[in-house]
Amino acid sequence: MKHAGLFFAALSILAADATAQDSAEAPLAILGARLVDTSGAESGDPVIVLVQDRIIQAVAGEIEIPSDARVINAEGKYLLPGLADMHNHLRSGTFVPGDKPAQILQQMLPWGITTVFDPAVHGSAYQLLRDEISKDPDSFPRVFLTNGLFTAPKGWGRGHEPLSASEARTMVQSMHASGSDAVKLMYDDMSWATTRPFAVLDPAIMAAIIDEAHRLGMKAFVHAPVLELAAEAVAAGVDCLLHGIISDPISPELIESMLEHGTCYMSTLTMFYTNAGYAAWADRLEEFDKYDRLDPAMLEAFRLPAVQGGTARLDNIAFAAQQLPVLRANLLRVANAGVPIVLGTDTGIPGVLPGIALQMELVMHVDAGLSSRQALDGATRNAAAMLDQASVFGSIAPGLAADILIVDANPLEDIRNIREIYRVIHAGRVYDPQLAR
Ligand SMILES: [Zn+2]
Repeated sequence: MKHAGLFFAALSILAADATAQDSAEAPLAILGARLVDTSGAESGDPVIVLVQDRIIQAVAGEIEIPSDARVINAEGKYLLPGLADMHNHLRSGTFVPGDKPAQILQQMLPWGITTVFDPAVHGSAYQLLRDEISKDPDSFPRVFLTNGLFTAPKGWGRGHEPLSASEARTMVQSMHASGSDAVKLMYDDMSWATTRPFAVLDPAIMAAIIDEAHRLGMKAFVHAPVLELAAEAVAAGVDCLLHGIISDPISPELIESMLEHGTCYMSTLTMFYTNAGYAAWADRLEEFDKYDRLDPAMLEAFRLPAVQGGTARLDNIAFAAQQLPVLRANLLRVANAGVPIVLGTDTGIPGVLPGIALQMELVMHVDAGLSSRQALDGATRNAAAMLDQASVFGSIAPGLAADILIVDANPLEDIRNIREIYRVIHAGRVYDPQLAR
């Protein structure tokens, strides 16, 4: 029967290639690609991947292909799990107001992003976005959202401002009731970017937020790029640092504490780099944008003198820029110590553009000294694990969601090959990035 299966496959290649609007419910067979298995196995012989009902049914050298299957001939190409951006604010990242979060979500699919976590959707926007996605969930990446975030009165960012531990617990309960996938807290005086530091949550309130989230089965994530504040949050049991440490070289004690608590580490290099200088960042974007998908006028806006050099409130961007080597060295040290690395971009900060930002984040992780495999793990299996979803997505294996990238060249050999996406598969649909802009 094995040979009969291959015979059917060969016939089907003669039929038209699968496209996005084909019947998404029909089985899908991907033939001839090599697996970029981020679990550690080397890319071996070409495989057949069979997808049915949005789930990977089989991955093997020989599989019987159902006669009604849509077929993608991927000979000579590489297969890897769809990418996840685990810190993304669903804004355009330009200086032009009027973002449409649902549209921005869809724009990320052709860049290979099949999962997005937005750790701060504020006010009524939270339910509006949930409602919009629920009308046609298959047309969006898999989405996780938090209903707002926690900060201190006069703290960085806007959000829930509990004045006591018990008020904080009540707020976490109502976030949980609203379907929030996790909680996020600011725990940052912004001293790495301003000479006039912001207020920070009382440590007892910070700890109560994390504790209450865990009691309700939710993860708690923190924005804490200052060493001693991050250390407090980790000691209180926070599940992931949503930014790298930029204030100081990371201490062995904090690394030890992260390993002990199982805390993950997200560096958001793209955010720190764009923040440190828009003009230099625009050059970097332009260089990376191999297929000229970015609007040149939008890039020019980042080179205008008026937008350089920080703001009245963030008046010490010079220090943040000076600390970039520390940020990179911290990432490498944390990764080599075995702390789980997860990739996120903070997309929506000016210059951090939907889709391309995550590809650049991968490249910048490798530039910082990580292996391509470490970087890709951070955008696939570790990203899923961050939300206890490793049995749902993040790997190419039977039983997992068929979130799949087919790329023309091996990103393990050169991480910049992540730009060469041939097809993106998500929710039973097949996307051709060349057709999207
Ligand atoms: Zn953010």
